[in-house]
Amino acid sequence: MKKNSTIQDKMYADIENKNIFDTTQKYAYEYLNTIFTRNVYPTEESISNLKYFNEELQKEPINAEAVLEQLHTYGSPATVANLGGRYFGFVCGSSVPVGLAAKNLATFWDQSPTMNVLSPIGSKLETVVEEWLKQLFNLPARTVAGFVSGTSTATFCGLAAARYRLLANQNWNINEDGLFNAPKIRVITGKQAHSTVLKAISLLGFGKNNIEWIDVDEHGRIIPDLIPEMDNTTLLILQAGNVNSGSYDDFEKICTKANKAGAWVHIDGAFGLWASAVDQLKHLTKGAEKANSWAVDGHKTLNTPYDSGIVLCEDKEALTSALHMSGSYIITSKERDGTFYTPEMSRRARVVELWAILKYLGKNGIDQMILTMHQRAVQFSQELSAIEGFAILNQVTFNQVMVACDTDEITEKTMAKIQELRECWVGGSLWNGKKIIRVSVCSWATTTEDISRSVNSFKQALKQII
Ligand SMILES: *Cc1c(COP(=O)(O)O)cnc(C)c1O
Repeated sequence: MKKNSTIQDKMYADIENKNIFDTTQKYAYEYLNTIFTRNVYPTEESISNLKYFNEELQKEPINAEAVLEQLHTYGSPATVANLGGRYFGFVCGSSVPVGLAAKNLATFWDQSPTMNVLSPIGSKLETVVEEWLKQLFNLPARTVAGFVSGTSTATFCGLAAARYRLLANQNWNINEDGLFNAPKIRVITGKQAHSTVLKAISLLGFGKNNIEWIDVDEHGRIIPDLIPEMDNTTLLILQAGNVNSGSYDDFEKICTKANKAGAWVHIDGAFGLWASAVDQLKHLTKGAEKANSWAVDGHKTLNTPYDSGIVLCEDKEALTSALHMSGSYIITSKERDGTFYTPEMSRRARVVELWAILKYLGKNGIDQMILTMHQRAVQFSQELSAIEGFAILNQVTFNQVMVACDTDEITEKTMAKIQELRECWVGGSLWNGKKIIRVSVCSWATTTEDISRSVNSFKQALKQII
């Protein structure tokens, strides 16, 4: 490198010779080569090596190769292998390979589908995917979609649309007049609502103390008969896929009642709404199409790379008004301008991976991939229930399995031991006051052998505990 070359000269050279891109590709391939065989959770040593990132920001630019080398040497081993087949923690999802590849290409495009004029390709793919999702989930033709970072944000957007509409029903304009002195909105949800639903309720100023909580049955489903009379100032939040048990609320019964009353129904379907796209599983979501807004992730069941969530809303005016924005420099078009459907102005074109994966799989590929996850979850529960000391606490209707040992203490210690063995990774939760191990089968890559190997790890862990 020339001694007096500027930082821009170096960057031009990086683009010109492409060495750093070749290097990154080599590192990425090394990473992919071990993804199915490596320890699922990073070793103590790799975690301890993260100390090498504790540095002051140095004064002068350095060689780009050195930056990437540090990232690969100490970063790659400290990753959690959720791309592989034996990560069952939280509800995560792997990545369909074509999605990773499409994301790579889109990285070089660096598009923001804020407005059509900023990214014609981003705008086009959002239009196409919106249509495909409506068909897959069997939603009303008037439904629109916003492409956001995940279900947390999607739920926030859906509830913001509800707030706009339910206040407009009372002749109140939330955008102009705000929440102070606004008429009241009733907020009803089940006692097993996901924490991100509660976050959205807080962010939107509804207040968690104002929630009318509905009791749930032993599967975590809202008991429909306990829902009070609703009206057109009522927001009701249901779920497709309880984060512990995987259960579904009775949408048919509840939505029919809500529709009659003019209430707004939002469905948190982060991972579970995908059942409605699968012929053999769509009975689980019967009636879900009668809701007003839906939140769903790409990055869980569909296995898109992070960060991919979608808000769907049958009331376009409410959604776009809630997320409205204006400015003298904004250029709208006859085509789709994505910013009207999301809270952000600029964002990356995350729809590229979503489009690529849907296009690659097709309807039957989606069926096959998601049904297999369900079958592997059933296998997990069957193999585990055959081992003394483990009990399965839920009906495995979708992809979640709740496991408990004889006492809370044994459950906790067994889970810690499983995590330590690093053959697979599972997390814990609470179910009716009882400690559980929660298994979420959410990866296209999970094989029957992966399940048996993981079940064996459960067995070894329990043996070492008692
Ligand atoms: C994961 C999850 C969320 C939150 O989704 P993010 O994509 O992490 O924001 C909300 N609800 C349920 C049921 C979930 O499983």
